[in-house]
Amino acid sequence: MAKESPRRTCVGCRSACDKDELIRFVLAPDGTLVPDLMQKLPGRGVYTCLKEDCIRQACERKQFSRAFKTDVQGVDPEALRDRIRAVMEDRIGSYISLANKAGKIVSGSDMVGEVLKKYKDTPKILLLASDVSEDIGNRMRCLATHCGVESVTLFDKERYGALLGKSPRSVVAVQGQGFVDKLKMEITRYRNFLRGEGCAG
Ligand SMILES: [Zn+2]
Repeated sequence: MAKESPRRTCVGCRSACDKDELIRFVLAPDGTLVPDLMQKLPGRGVYTCLKEDCIRQACERKQFSRAFKTDVQGVDPEALRDRIRAVMEDRIGSYISLANKAGKIVSGSDMVGEVLKKYKDTPKILLLASDVSEDIGNRMRCLATHCGVESVTLFDKERYGALLGKSPRSVVAVQGQGFVDKLKMEITRYRNFLRGEGCAG
């Protein structure tokens, strides 16, 4: 049986969820609110669903100040959302860099095409740039579907290139069970956050 993670209550919608599905906030020494995505920062933690709505409600109802029993700074919902989004993107980016250092990444449509077709049973994920050409994008998506590989459209070419230490890349394939699992999980969280979905309550 899978070990259950402890449950915490979202200070926005008040529903209880697994801790892992929520976002933790801590208070910095200067009294500002810090989103703690890794759930590792010291001090008391306050939680919300990973949803813009819940963060907004928590801000508007001054729930952070109430929970921390002090006048909390930096509770502008838009700024918090942008910050969380940036942190989530950084995390996805850091897994891509790590996978790259571990030699688990190929990029460019020819190389990626080869890899998708070749090792059928190894776990993979296809990352497409948001600014990939329509032609290449369609071709790669088709091939991924055919090979049973999940494809995700995420960062732009420039960002993939920077993460890989290369010129801009529009198509990237990640291999290796650990990296693929982590990336899928992080990307799902990121997408749910952008879509405004989170824990069902
Ligand atoms: Zn909530």
